[in-house]
Amino acid sequence: MSLRIGIIGAGAIGTDHARRITNTLSGAQVVAVTDVNPEQAHTLIDGLQLKAQVYRDGHELIHAESVDAILVTSWGPTHEEFVLAAIAAGKYVFCEKPLATTADGCRHIVDAEINAGKRLVQVGFMRPYDSGYRQLKQAIDAGEIGAPLMVHCAHRNPSVPESYVTPMAIHDTLIHELDVLRWLLDDDYVSAQVVFPRKTRHAHSKVADPQIVLLETRKGVRIDVEIFVNCRYGYDIQCAVVGEEGIANLPEPQSLLMRKDAMHYARVLTDWKQRFIDAYDSELQAFIKDIQNGALSGPSAWDGFAAAIAADACVKAQDSGRIETIEMPTRPAFYA
Ligand code: NAP
Repeated sequence: MSLRIGIIGAGAIGTDHARRITNTLSGAQVVAVTDVNPEQAHTLIDGLQLKAQVYRDGHELIHAESVDAILVTSWGPTHEEFVLAAIAAGKYVFCEKPLATTADGCRHIVDAEINAGKRLVQVGFMRPYDSGYRQLKQAIDAGEIGAPLMVHCAHRNPSVPESYVTPMAIHDTLIHELDVLRWLLDDDYVSAQVVFPRKTRHAHSKVADPQIVLLETRKGVRIDVEIFVNCRYGYDIQCAVVGEEGIANLPEPQSLLMRKDAMHYARVLTDWKQRFIDAYDSELQAFIKDIQNGALSGPSAWDGFAAAIAADACVKAQDSGRIETIEMPTRPAFYA
């Protein structure tokens, strides 16, 4: 039977997920939508010609009998409340990042899920579903490059709006590296430092850009992540894992190789949505399939919590200029 999904938040990613559920994925349909602005919910439904109902608010949607599972794609500060309500209602919930805006908020969700006795939450960290990162993980797990020693990463955007301020480089941008690198290395972070190179003239006054985040893991791996959100030339994600026996690089997205005007070049993507479009499809398809099989396997509430703890330490390090310790609690057996 088709899984009946309700969407809370009919903005950019909510609409995008509704489109993929309706046009690309199998096994689910969107039956309910809500948004603080009801017109927005109607626009989503009309745009995709859905037979779905608009609900007054997220809580009414969560409790609707016609809804089997929830997608939380509203504004970040609302996530904790809706995820907790979904757990209390015993319904599966896919929550876009952040799981909650504070580590304490994530911990409340972890505790509620453990009390419910069953994994009900998947966090919208899509990079573990990207085929390039999966190839990297396979190579590392198979021992092809020996033990990982260092990781060099870059997360570059062409530009960001005036609303993007310095801590967002961590909470909105680095958060994806914080998640995917834990998964890639099967490790946890123990410390973070942030250093600020010369500022680009293309950055507005409220964002320090670029930044370099230096992380250390329990196993002693050293990671550097360049965050450069006004790099102008494109949306570019780089990841090179240096091991004892060799180096594994994240593959470049497919792009035509051009020879023209005495040049030899390949185009770089500019839109983040395009870079990970297959991964967004795969993460949601996995959520739907896992529910049908009765057990979630994607990024968990614990992963959301771990990323939030590391992110808080990075923001502290931005302010202090010092190396900040990351205190990661022991992972409960529930999330083994
Ligand atoms: P957006 O376009 O602003 O959409 C959010 C929508 O939720 C807006 O329509 C907003 O209405 C609505 N909303 C806010 N509070 C609500 C509430 N209490 N109940 C119902 N609807 C509510 O933002 P977005 O870009 O789609 O991002 C949404 C979330 O997805 C964010 O947490 C973001 O970090 C995450 N995200 C993740 C990725 C990823 O790569 N995984 C990519 C993009 C976004 P108003 O506009 O009227 O406030």
